[in-house]
Amino acid sequence: MKDTHPTPIVTAGAPVLRVVAPEVPKELFGTKELTGILSAMEASLRSAEFGVAIAAPQIGVSYRIFTVRGFVVAGNERNDDDPDVVFINPKIVNSSRKKISVTGEGCLSVPNVYGTIERAEKVTVVAHDASGKKFQRGGSELLAEIFQHEVDHLNGVLFIDHATDLKKTLPDGTFIDYD
Ligand SMILES: [Zn+2]
Repeated sequence: MKDTHPTPIVTAGAPVLRVVAPEVPKELFGTKELTGILSAMEASLRSAEFGVAIAAPQIGVSYRIFTVRGFVVAGNERNDDDPDVVFINPKIVNSSRKKISVTGEGCLSVPNVYGTIERAEKVTVVAHDASGKKFQRGGSELLAEIFQHEVDHLNGVLFIDHATDLKKTLPDGTFIDYD
């Protein structure tokens, strides 16, 4: 029987989150291996209530892949029927000079921790889809923040490395400084 349990999300401290992930090689496109990685990423992302995106290293797979929830990419209200969008070997080809200070950025790999971080307001990403086809996608505000956060993951960078005012939310709803 097929195991339908989502792959657990790797948390800070795991070496896989701290290396520069290699590109997905051409030979892997269209294979069951790649499809398997993408399904595992999607399942783990969808199992995380507040997850809007996930990078392959977060499920322990060191490849340059991230997945963004479809409703975010489409700019819709949350709609779980929107298909997730996969970015393989993504490159940020353009970043706005204008930066914004984002409050409340978090990460599935650093549970319950939120901070303030400076991000480019707009970025453009060029990536490949699961079939290997190249596409370009621009994003502003939340989507731009996600693109930058996820590409950081592929370079071994976590948001806690450069966020300020980091706080950890405790189970009772209060929060403490995190460092
Ligand atoms: Zn993250």
